[in-house]
Amino acid sequence: MLKGKSAIVTGSTSGIGLGMALALAKAGANVMLNGFGDVAGAKAQVAAESAAFGGKVSYHGADMSKPAEIEAMVRACEAEFGAVDILVNNAGIQHVANIEDFPVDRWDAIIAINLNSAFHTMRAALPGMKARHWGRIINVASVHGLVGSAQKSAYVAAKHGIVGLTKVAALENATTGVTVNAICPGWVLTPLVQKQVDARAESLKISNDEAKRQLLAEKQPSLQFTTPAELAELALFMCSPAGDNIRGVAWNVDGGWTAQ
Ligand code: NAD
Repeated sequence: MLKGKSAIVTGSTSGIGLGMALALAKAGANVMLNGFGDVAGAKAQVAAESAAFGGKVSYHGADMSKPAEIEAMVRACEAEFGAVDILVNNAGIQHVANIEDFPVDRWDAIIAINLNSAFHTMRAALPGMKARHWGRIINVASVHGLVGSAQKSAYVAAKHGIVGLTKVAALENATTGVTVNAICPGWVLTPLVQKQVDARAESLKISNDEAKRQLLAEKQPSLQFTTPAELAELALFMCSPAGDNIRGVAWNVDGGWTAQ
């Protein structure tokens, strides 16, 4: 479906971003990976999916808190693959604390990585998309772009911000072939959430399974984690011709979290 298209997925060495990269590769796209940690492992997994369709896999180590590195990543993708047709803004971090205890450097890092980076990738990638009359920008926001939770001030502020940024970018490009949308997951069991499960298990002296059950029971009525593969299927739908007129949505995949 996406043969001949080229994608950047920020923060794709693990979790949701890796799921997005795998699905895009399987759909035939060239994929530029980004993120820290097990780069070789992520690259090997995505390359295995690409193999059958002849897509290429590449990696850029841009730190999403650094605008100059972000711009260099977009230019590297254009140089290597000839274009950035699909941009998945996914890189993100979390920190949990009350506002009065929130470390200032964590606030700055969350706003930079979870929000500002999407402005910088879009700013760099949009001119090429518009010139080629086709583009898909998918911002991985969160239910926390729609509702709040205590102790997540920076994260909720950044995610509400990216939902707003998505709407503005969608409107600015509404008469072009470039669509801009956000996906708003509820709980997905990735390393980012596993840390919160571990913290709960430790502070309440309960098992990891019980901590997971409690986490879901508090917010997610389905009592099931959303999976990266489910989110990737929605991203593929947004990239399909059926997605041509989906513009500026913040589409929750949250087991009923925001229906309450
Ligand atoms: P994760 O920790 O598994 O993955 C985060 C990715 O971002 C990794 O590849 C990491 O290396 C990368 N990253 C972190 N800082 C970076 C930086 N400065 N520069 C470049 N890359 C960086 O987390 P995840 O749960 O897969 O989260 C991915 C996105 O999904 C985030 O934006 C997160 O807010 C959002 N999200 C997650 C959940 C959830 O329940 N897991 C729910 C809603 C939204």
